[in-house]
This record gives sequence, structure tokens and C-alpha cells, in this order.
Amino acid sequence: MYRNLAFAVSGELPYSEEGELGDGGGNDAASHVRPIPRYGFLCLDCSKTFKDRVSAVRHVQRNHLLNAPSFFCRFCSKEYRVEKDRQQHMNRVHGLVLSAKEIRELDTQP
Ligand SMILES: [Zn+2]
Ligand SMILES: [Zn+2]
Repeated sequence: MYRNLAFAVSGELPYSEEGELGDGGGNDAASHVRPIPRYGFLCLDCSKTFKDRVSAVRHVQRNHLLNAPSFFCRFCSKEYRVEKDRQQHMNRVHGLVLSAKEIRELDTQP
């Protein structure tokens, strides 16, 4: 069985502003979510998919908008919105094989 996720590309997706998400009361989170036929809804920020729009918008609000966490590489100050991205960056660029938890612990050290 092949899992042919055509949308799971690493690059950007075509961005379109659609007026259909008008019930959010001008909520900006909806603009981070893109409906994908047959798959549900895609978070444009981290490429996660959701079965329904409510979950997707809530995800955006939690992870990318309201007190959206930023993860900085403590070696080169690169900023990541997704913790896993920083982890991969530290692995690839700085050769550190650390878990997300270990990186967090590093962060709390002076
Ligand atoms: Zn996301
Ligand atoms: Zn770095």
C-alpha cells in the first residue's frame, strides 16, 4: 500500500484567501489553515493535517498564534516555531543528538 500524500511537500503551498471561514469573527488563525480535498485541513505553518477545521484552527491558535512558542538555537540563535525543527537543526548543523527534552533542559541553564 502506497501512501501517496501529494500535498506533503516540503515547499510552500499555494496560498489562497477564501471567504468561507467567516464564522471565526475575523480570527487570523483561519488564514493559517488550508482545506485539502479528501484529507481534511492542513496547517500551513507546520504541515500537520486535521480532520476538521475546528481542530486545525484550534491547533493554529495554540501553536502558532497565542503565546506561540519560539524555539531558539542556543548556538546560532536561529528561531524555530516548531520544536522538532530546532531539534533537527541542532542535529544537522551542530551535530548534537539530543531529545527535545534535553534541549529544553539546556535552555534553562544559564
Ligand atoms: Zn501547525
Ligand atoms: Zn544553530
